[in-house]
Amino acid sequence: MQLRYAFRLYPDTAQRLALARAFGCARVVYNDAVRAREDARTAGLAFPTAGHLSKQLITQARQTPERSWLGEVSAVVLQQSLRDAETAYKNFFASLRGERRGAKSGAPRFKSRKDSRQSIRFTPNARWSITGSGRLNLPKIGAVQVKWSRTLPAQPSSVTVVKDAAGRYFASFVIDTDPAADAARMPGTDQRVGIDLGLTHFAVLSDGRVIDSPRFLRRAEKRLKKAQRELSRKQKGSRNREKARLKAARAHAKVADARREFHHQLSTRLIRDNQAIGVEDLAVKGLARTRLAKSVHDAGWAQFVHMLEYKAVRYGRTLVKIGRFEPTSQVCSACGAKDGPKPLHIREWTCAACGAVHDRDHNAAKNVKTAAGLAVTACGAQVRPGLVPAQRDEAGSHGIPSEPRTA
Ligand SMILES: [Zn+2]
Repeated sequence: MQLRYAFRLYPDTAQRLALARAFGCARVVYNDAVRAREDARTAGLAFPTAGHLSKQLITQARQTPERSWLGEVSAVVLQQSLRDAETAYKNFFASLRGERRGAKSGAPRFKSRKDSRQSIRFTPNARWSITGSGRLNLPKIGAVQVKWSRTLPAQPSSVTVVKDAAGRYFASFVIDTDPAADAARMPGTDQRVGIDLGLTHFAVLSDGRVIDSPRFLRRAEKRLKKAQRELSRKQKGSRNREKARLKAARAHAKVADARREFHHQLSTRLIRDNQAIGVEDLAVKGLARTRLAKSVHDAGWAQFVHMLEYKAVRYGRTLVKIGRFEPTSQVCSACGAKDGPKPLHIREWTCAACGAVHDRDHNAAKNVKTAAGLAVTACGAQVRPGLVPAQRDEAGSHGIPSEPRTA
């Protein structure tokens, strides 16, 4: 399977200017492509072909006074931008036809200079390279300094250069994993586990282990709250506001990094220790929840479950997502009796049928394990046979999962 590996870049002043120019040109070509499509739609005409757009919006546009500056950046970057626009439309139409899983994609929008994330992509034919001294050599930009936080396991075919809202630059490489090396790294095991993702604790496992967010993440979250408060107090359009915005963006990036790091470590550990993992389907979990839970939890859980998913595929594990109408917090995991709804503040309860005393989350995790068919009966048989190994998600390059930034 394919994975992304991201490394921090440190462009010098001239390179930052060249990158800004490349981001700008890629954006203009993208927007011109969206406009050409919109114009064709308004006029009731067929969409222009990719070849036509390439000729019109790059080759010919470079000859005009209004777009002559497109000649200052690598043509491959501009071609890639056209391809991205085309992919965005493909996804949009597939989504309209209901052929795409996951969130609905909206109609492609015009990109703005003010977008928090700017990016350009260099494909194999763009003649980019990694120099002998470990710099990333990009056409019409130069040899940029890279912080190699880990070794690249294989030769990458393409690289995306990203500038995030905090003003940081990254190079993101796509690499094919090595199945033999992966199998050696994580040998098979006979352990199975159910996971209950919760609000009180990040996760509780069916074996009773409780996992909370680490302190570095909670500290980063506190700093983010403070930065956001400061930002809201600053006058719109003032220079102090711009400073506060950047500070908040940096604090936000730190929280996102810390959370991703925590999710990576935990998901890798769970995948290493278990052959099969049961977890609730989040779309379902969301429906059953009160507004007590904030969207930040949903986003965090989704990222974590997505990591479990791709790592299960990568390391030959089984991930079972249990669906609707499995009232994991209402059923006694000892005798199966349904005890009725429990408000969130009830942390412990006693089963009226068998008298078992349950911790709410631990009981839920045990039920997840059983519902996922991972519980083993006294005679050693699975409660629900026929496990299907995790399926790889069909997605474009934007759907390629990312490895942790630091090993
Ligand atoms: Zn019971």
